[in-house]
Amino acid sequence: MSVAAKDYYGILGVPRDATADDIKRAYRKLARQYHPDVNPDPTAAEKFKDINAAYEVLSDDQKRQIVDLGGDPLSPGMGGMGGPGAGGPFVGFQDIMDAFFGGATSRGPRARTRAGADAILRLDLDLVETAFGVEAPITVDTAVLCTTCSGAGTAAGTHPQTCETCGGRGEVQSVQRTFLGQVVSSRPCGSCAGYGTTIPHPCMTCGGDGRVRTRRSLTVKIPAGVEDGMRIRLAGQGEVGPGGGPSGDLYVEIHERPHDVYARKGDDLHCKVTVPMTAAALGTRLTIKTLDSEEQLEVKAGTQPGSTLRIRGKGVPHLRGAGRGDLFVHLDVRTPTKLDSSQEQMLREFARSRGEEVAELSKQGGFFSRMRDAFNGH
Ligand SMILES: [Zn+2]
Ligand SMILES: [Zn+2]
Repeated sequence: MSVAAKDYYGILGVPRDATADDIKRAYRKLARQYHPDVNPDPTAAEKFKDINAAYEVLSDDQKRQIVDLGGDPLSPGMGGMGGPGAGGPFVGFQDIMDAFFGGATSRGPRARTRAGADAILRLDLDLVETAFGVEAPITVDTAVLCTTCSGAGTAAGTHPQTCETCGGRGEVQSVQRTFLGQVVSSRPCGSCAGYGTTIPHPCMTCGGDGRVRTRRSLTVKIPAGVEDGMRIRLAGQGEVGPGGGPSGDLYVEIHERPHDVYARKGDDLHCKVTVPMTAAALGTRLTIKTLDSEEQLEVKAGTQPGSTLRIRGKGVPHLRGAGRGDLFVHLDVRTPTKLDSSQEQMLREFARSRGEEVAELSKQGGFFSRMRDAFNGH
């Protein structure tokens, strides 16, 4: 007995004494559910492969007998995957088409119904909106299901017809005589584009595509604390697929407009406040308008240019978890430029009282003379 024998009955969910019809019915149901064209779940493709393998085995009397004896007809020891047999890319192919199109109406290898693409949309927001969240109205241009034909692509009361060129197979074969003998080659049918069916009377609204482009208005809920470049996913709001296939997702990409006052670094905010030299020397109180409040800030006497004051918890709220970043106020001390003669006089007296006259300074450490020498290349 093979230890690697797969539970093919279990995969299809049928009892061991299931009839051929039971197996076929179970297979069609699962194939519809897990076909990668309609099921975007990444595990669906694997599951679909298993379902096909189970059907390949259980729909073949000889192979089913091997399973019933405890073996696995698909394991390498039992002769491998059956090879490129008579049934095309894999056995059960025809039945997938039947599962989707209910029998003989379509036999083409290309499904008309396919999954839709994702869409992306740029959303410009102000700092206050990214910081505290916002319900932003957006306008989306995507393909949506054609309501006239519900995605079928056919005009009311009409149906797709089996392609006369390929007989519904979706591909045409040609036989060529070569010195090696007859060579049969196949290519997608040009008359039906490989669908196996044609739509002689297309829906007037969508032209047979099963979907139409429309402009929709949506409201997207932006959580507090998002950052520039982040994307918000709106499941199922992307493009509807051809033939009315399942929609892709819509991604809303956040773009934060630069703020007049605040520069953002992560969840911290930075701003620059200029204070006059006298205020920096004597000390003062500032009123800072934060994103959502007003804060009194004490500038201590003797504050130096480039000093930073920190207001905790007044930055941007964290996207994940509680709390907020901080607000950093960078102080720039402004030196007065246009002095009238009496102001100049006062400053000179002030300097003299502190022993800070320029003449004395240059004498002190000889610093300025050294600088001058350096510039002159000495
Ligand atoms: Zn055709
Ligand atoms: Zn339509």
